[in-house]
Amino acid sequence: MADGERKRTLEVARRASPGGELSGRTVLIVDDDPAHVRHVREGLAPQGYIFKEAHDGTQALSAIRQARPDLILMDVEMPGLGGVEVCRIIKANSGEDGFGFIPVILMTARQAAGKVEGLELGADDYLVKPFDMLELSARVKSMLRLKVLQDALVEKNRELDKANKELARRREELLALSRTDALTGLFNRRYFEERLNEEFARSRRYGAPLSLVMLDIDHFKRINDTFGHPFGDQVLKAVAQTARTRLREVDLLARYGGEELIALLPETGPEDALKVCERVREAIASLGLEPPGGDGTAEPVRLTASLGVATVPSADLASAEALLMAADTSLYAAKGAGRNRVHQHAA
Ligand code: GH3
Ligand code: MG
Ligand code: MG
Ligand code: MG
Repeated sequence: MADGERKRTLEVARRASPGGELSGRTVLIVDDDPAHVRHVREGLAPQGYIFKEAHDGTQALSAIRQARPDLILMDVEMPGLGGVEVCRIIKANSGEDGFGFIPVILMTARQAAGKVEGLELGADDYLVKPFDMLELSARVKSMLRLKVLQDALVEKNRELDKANKELARRREELLALSRTDALTGLFNRRYFEERLNEEFARSRRYGAPLSLVMLDIDHFKRINDTFGHPFGDQVLKAVAQTARTRLREVDLLARYGGEELIALLPETGPEDALKVCERVREAIASLGLEPPGGDGTAEPVRLTASLGVATVPSADLASAEALLMAADTSLYAAKGAGRNRVHQHAA
């Protein structure tokens, strides 16, 4: 995190909890001596904290799970699970899916020898009994401020994470949009051309067959002229859908121009490509679209399309452009031969 960001977070934390405004924070006091627990509670009472108590290490762990305290004041010397061990468990579970960060102040009757051990095991502070109540209060406050700051940081990180994910999602959306033809929902020409070069190179590298199909609706102008441009748009969508559902998932179908579609069929040789084209042609010729403004009794609108197809490897097609040109020339041959047919480039 950048320094500026850290400063701002600190500021937010300060505002959320200016000095003395730590009331309402939960403090867990763990000690096997009830008199000592009472003593600590009394000392901290003016601060308005919420107190939880535990009288041994095991109780402490279940209290932590239930109450998620903001601070733990814990005796080191307890029968059974001691304070140092509990502290180690807390710090080992300080991840986001564990307890998170909970500051621990250990309290001990022992002298300085144990102090090093406690701090090394991850205790955040250490008090030697008997301690001065003012000192206790000051240390508790400073640890709670640390906790508030840490919580703010965690929250901020969570927000950043969320924002990053949202950004990545938007980027994906934009990318998809930049590849899509708005009317038909098919890929657009730009994306097709990108992929054509890739697929051509792949086909050449592995000697795998690759077929390219160009499709143009027959007498589309008449449809527009007779039924209007919006209906023409509907026809285009229907043709796009029809072609899409007759192709395999791996085939790339795009809108190439006004009423021209283009398809790239990887791993598809000349015979299979011809079959696919015939299937698409027939499906389009069998469409019957309800004319606009009708009452459902009018004759359905019929239409046909012409297709040109070429396949590599082919002795005379040495580039992606040549493949494209061959399919285009074949398409115009199909038109010239009377439309509603498939013409295949002769290898
Ligand atoms: P041919 O059988 O020779 O292909 O005849 P055609 O009428 O289909 O060919 P032409 O190129 O003369 O006309 C294509 C028409 O497609 C002209 C244009 O107005 C129409 N067109 C192009 N894009 C769109 C579109 O997005 N929506 C609609 N409704 N019409 C479009
Ligand atoms: Mg004790
Ligand atoms: Mg046309
Ligand atoms: Mg055309």
